[in-house]
Amino acid sequence: QSSNTASSNRQNVRVTVRVRPPNAVEMSRGETEIWEVDSKIGKVSLQPDFMERYRKQLSEYYYDEVFTGSDNKLLFERGVRETVRSTMEGYNGTVFAYGQTSSGKTFSQPGVIPQAVDAVFEYIKENKEKEFLLRVSYMEIYNETVRDLLCPETDDLRIHEDKRRGVYVSPLKEVVVSTPKQVMKEILKGEANRHMSSTDWNERSSRSHTVFQMVVESTAKGSLPPRSSRYSTLGQKQSASVSLSVLNLIDLAGSEKAASSADRRKEGAFINKSLLTLGTVISKLTDNSGGHIPYRDSKLTRILQNSLSGNARVAVICTISPSVINHEESQNTLKFASRIK
Ligand code: ADP
Ligand code: MG
Repeated sequence: QSSNTASSNRQNVRVTVRVRPPNAVEMSRGETEIWEVDSKIGKVSLQPDFMERYRKQLSEYYYDEVFTGSDNKLLFERGVRETVRSTMEGYNGTVFAYGQTSSGKTFSQPGVIPQAVDAVFEYIKENKEKEFLLRVSYMEIYNETVRDLLCPETDDLRIHEDKRRGVYVSPLKEVVVSTPKQVMKEILKGEANRHMSSTDWNERSSRSHTVFQMVVESTAKGSLPPRSSRYSTLGQKQSASVSLSVLNLIDLAGSEKAASSADRRKEGAFINKSLLTLGTVISKLTDNSGGHIPYRDSKLTRILQNSLSGNARVAVICTISPSVINHEESQNTLKFASRIK
């Protein structure tokens, strides 16, 4: 493959890092923030005071975008908008939030999701020559078991694959939506179902992945209108007249090393494996060396297979803590962020 292709593939993966501001506890301990951020050149680096202490570690990293602070609008504009737009134009797009628990994944997501939804409907408004059909679904993956958050009674969700549809989950509830409000309503429903399923949902929510999917079908106006078909979730352009793509918004489980109890270790092993596989799969998108792509090594990458192959667009928001206590986990997150680009 030409280097041209390689560099354009790299453009398809966008990596943003955000260091969250210190919280009240960290402030009360009088901690110094250990990471320095230069948004202009996309650099995250250790504060000079800490360089000697961590001299065996890399002390600076570069990404497409880096931020501190709490501006979710800026985060969306710089890190995510282009990926969402591409989905409307027929590419599969996926947005991930990656980082250790309490580094800011969920804080970033509510910022990103409504803006992504708004961007979708803005695009539809601006492109009156096209007709769109949107369907949403919402899943949770916990200990390698898939649950339907829009229909929690379903207990036998399976991953299937066929030539026409590619890889898909069934039976999965899909809801046709035509306004931002309807989308947000389904998301809230899914969140509520997630809470109900667990006595300690806060704990569980950091140990599970959620996958919110929006299937976008579009046709030129005047040609056959897009039909709602249960069999058309194949994440590729289907025919000359109907364009089909998927937008995935993903809140990942915490990337921290597992704690000590046996249950936690089992969960942790599943999480580590799926995050490792995710990193491998995304990094393969940007290198053209070919070879085996291990989609089947985790439910997450298997479910996302259509969306993480070919000309896929991926935006990854990696979140890190400013605290010295979390230094090692932050290093791991920064390494993940570097590896996938
Ligand atoms: P995670 O989902 O990664 O476990 P959260 O998003 O729940 O972490 O963040 C942990 C806490 O820190 C929350 O109280 C959240 O409001 C706060 N927080 C995270 N990131 C930011 C940020 N960029 N600005 C302000 N507060 C933040
Ligand atoms: Mg969270």
